[in-house]
Amino acid sequence: MKLPPFTLHRPGSIGQASRLLADLGDEGAAYCGGTELLLAMKLGLASYDHLVDLKRVDALRGISAVGSGGVRIGAASTHREIETSATLRASYPELCAMISQVANVRVRSVGTLGGNLCFADPHSDPASFLLAAGAAMVCQHGEAIRRIPAAAFLTGLYQTALAPGELLTAVELPPRPDRTALSHLRFTLTERPAVTVTAMLTLAAGGGATAAVSAARLIVGSVGSVPFAADTAVLTGAGTADFDARAAECAERAASGCAPLPDGEASAGYLRHLVFVHARQALREAFTRAS
Ligand SMILES: Cc1cc2nc3c(=O)[nH]c(=O)nc-3n(C[C@H](O)[C@H](O)[C@H](O)COP(=O)(O)OP(=O)(O)OC[C@H]3O[C@@H](n4cnc5c(N)ncnc54)[C@H](O)[C@@H]3O)c2cc1C
Repeated sequence: MKLPPFTLHRPGSIGQASRLLADLGDEGAAYCGGTELLLAMKLGLASYDHLVDLKRVDALRGISAVGSGGVRIGAASTHREIETSATLRASYPELCAMISQVANVRVRSVGTLGGNLCFADPHSDPASFLLAAGAAMVCQHGEAIRRIPAAAFLTGLYQTALAPGELLTAVELPPRPDRTALSHLRFTLTERPAVTVTAMLTLAAGGGATAAVSAARLIVGSVGSVPFAADTAVLTGAGTADFDARAAECAERAASGCAPLPDGEASAGYLRHLVFVHARQALREAFTRAS
């Protein structure tokens, strides 16, 4: 496998990078870690005469606390930087745990969060997690900045809401409400996850036997072309006594509502079964952690 020849551009700012990409049009593409794009080019699945290297754009890097409890993750942050970030370990430890399961340490050391999301491979751990966490994608074209909710960023198989020349610059996580917990579970048949499920639950004030769910999200990823938000209405008001039964009902709805893509490794029925099992377990874990 040999990489075909191309001209390399190394902009120093977001503005320069997005202008270059707009000028190059279909002849150019951005890359960061290159774990997806360079492989696709080696395999002959993609071809570009020009590549725009984003690694030297400092404004795309860094992980920092924002406001009271939110976090900004630069799009060029590697999985490994996220996994080991003290800021994230303090505010979103579940995100560090989720990222530590992505691929292997070699891919995590060079692959970036932005590259994962912008490539829009359906088998993505961060995609499900960020939807459940209510993240926003910060995007920039020239000087124009817009925020896209995570739920609207992935638009189809290998497709995003980014306009030509527009870059993902950062992912913003909102402050997490009190008594909120997340649980991310995954199942792999090959290298990448066949099923990813993230549950986020918030409990109303009051503890022990009076704990009751006030907000819930359940996202199923990797089975369909884009992550799917399951109907969680049945969980509202669920408490210690009836949580398990309601979680099973919610997981059942997630399994029947998702739309598995044809997969050589697993039938649609098997994938739905995996979704049910993992969704029920993720909900239980989130409830226990939040209680
Ligand atoms: C062996 C292997 C196993 C894997 N296992 C998993 C797994 O278990 N779970 C999982 O979730 N993922 C997995 N992945 C995917 C991995 O997370 C991605 O390969 C990696 O994050 C991509 O980042 P990158 O910087 O290398 O992307 P690149 O290859 O540099 O870029 C990918 C695409 O994104 C675009 N892009 C990159 N950055 C930006 C930006 N800031 N703005 C706009 N466009 C941009 C590029 O133009 C390109 O089209 C695996 C990958 C491999 C190779």
